[in-house]
Amino acid sequence: MKNQESKTPYIVRPQTAVLTRGFNPELSAGSARPAVFRSSTYVFSSPESAERAFEIALGKSKPAENESVELIYARLSHPNAEIAEDQIVPLEPGARSAAVFNSGMAAISTLCFAFCKPGDAIIYTNPLYGGTHHLLHQMLAPLGIENVAVPAGDTTALTEAITRTANARLVFIETPANPTLRMSDIRAAAKAAHDRTHSPLIAVDNTLMGPAFQHPLALGADLVVYSATKYLAGFSDMLGGVILGKDPELIEALRGIRAMLGNILQPDESWLLDSRLPTVLFRMHRQSKNAQHIVDALAGHPGICTFHYPSLFDEPEQKRIRDAQCRYGGALFSFELHGGKRAAFDFLRRLTIARNAVSLGGVESLACHPATTTHSEMTADELRGCGVSDRLVRISVGVEDWRDLLKDLRQSLDAI
Ligand SMILES: *Cc1c(COP(=O)(O)O)cnc(C)c1O
Repeated sequence: MKNQESKTPYIVRPQTAVLTRGFNPELSAGSARPAVFRSSTYVFSSPESAERAFEIALGKSKPAENESVELIYARLSHPNAEIAEDQIVPLEPGARSAAVFNSGMAAISTLCFAFCKPGDAIIYTNPLYGGTHHLLHQMLAPLGIENVAVPAGDTTALTEAITRTANARLVFIETPANPTLRMSDIRAAAKAAHDRTHSPLIAVDNTLMGPAFQHPLALGADLVVYSATKYLAGFSDMLGGVILGKDPELIEALRGIRAMLGNILQPDESWLLDSRLPTVLFRMHRQSKNAQHIVDALAGHPGICTFHYPSLFDEPEQKRIRDAQCRYGGALFSFELHGGKRAAFDFLRRLTIARNAVSLGGVESLACHPATTTHSEMTADELRGCGVSDRLVRISVGVEDWRDLLKDLRQSLDAI
C-alpha cells in the first residue's frame, strides 16, 4: 500500500534515506514534513480498486511490482505508519521491511502470536525485560507455548538449547541484558538455528544498543525488535514498538496479526516517531559518549563495589562478544553500592539532575532501583541468578553536559 514513495532515484546512505524516502510532499499539499492523516477509513478511487485492495489485504493475491494498492482502513495500515516504516528501514543494516506497533510489548506480543502455536517452544536469554518475561510465563505458557530459559552470556547453553529443543519456533535474545549488560552471542545463535532442518526464527530485542551500535540482522538474526519508547523516540513522551526483518514476508505476517489485535501505532504517534528518527544516531552517540566519560571517572569510586558497563567487562567471553557485535558501550550502566539497599535508596534520593524513574533512552537522565521496580516480579532466586542484587542502581544517561551529571552522581555517592 505504498502511496508515499519518494522520488530519490539513486541509493543514498542511511542518514540521508531517513529524510528522503517514504514521503512524497505532493501527497501532503506540498508540506515539507509529513502531515498527520487521522482518518480511520480511506476512499477508494473505484470499486475495482477496493476489490483489489481487499484481495491483497486478505492474502489472496500479491501486489505486482510497482503496483500502488489503495489504503483500506487505519487498523490495517495508514499513511503515517507507512512513512515511519519506510524511513526506519535504512537505519537498520540488513532490513528490508518494518512494522510499527503502539508499544514495545505490543510488538513482542504480536511476534509471539504470529509465529508460535500451542506445542511450540520459545527459547530466551535470561534475564528478560519484565513485560516479556510476564508474557512468556503468565500468558503464553498457559496457552501451551513452552519456554526455555538460557542464562545471558552462556554461548554453549544457548547453542545447545537451539540444537536440542526440537519444537523451538522462536529464539528471543535480549542483548545486552538489562540491568547487568551481560551480552549474548547473536551470530552463534543464528548459526545454530540455521544448521537445523526447521530453523527457529532468531529475534533480537535491540532496544538498548540499536540502531546505532549493534546490528543483529547483519549478524544473522531474522528479526529485530524495538521498544521505540526508548532511544528511537528518545524524549520519554510516547510509547511505540517496531519490528524489522530481512524477509518482507515475515513482516507481512506480523501486519496480519496486528490488524486483528488492533495494535498498530496510531497516526499522531507514528508522526512523532518519524520526526525523531533523523536524530536517533546523533542522540545515541552523544548519550554513549556521556556515559563513557562518567564511567571512566566513577569506576574507582570507593562507594561502588561492582560496576557494569561494556568497557569494564573482565570475563574473556563477554569481551569477545562485545568486540564482535557492539561498536560502543551505549548509554546505560549500573553499579552496586557498598551499604546494600539502604545505600542504593539514599543514592537515588540525593540525585538532583538524574530523576528517579524507570525507562531509559530519553534525552534526560533517569535512575532506578531494578530489584524493587523493573525486576520486582522475579523471585529472590531468579534475581540472584541473573545478578540483580538489592544494592544495584541503574542509570540511563541523557544528553545533559556530562560534567554536571558526573558532579551530581559523585555528590550523591560521596554523601552515603
Ligand atoms: C521498555 C522495553 C520493552 C517494552 O517496551 P514498551 O514500549 O514499554 O512496551 C521491551 N524490551 C526492552 C529491552 C525495553 O527496555
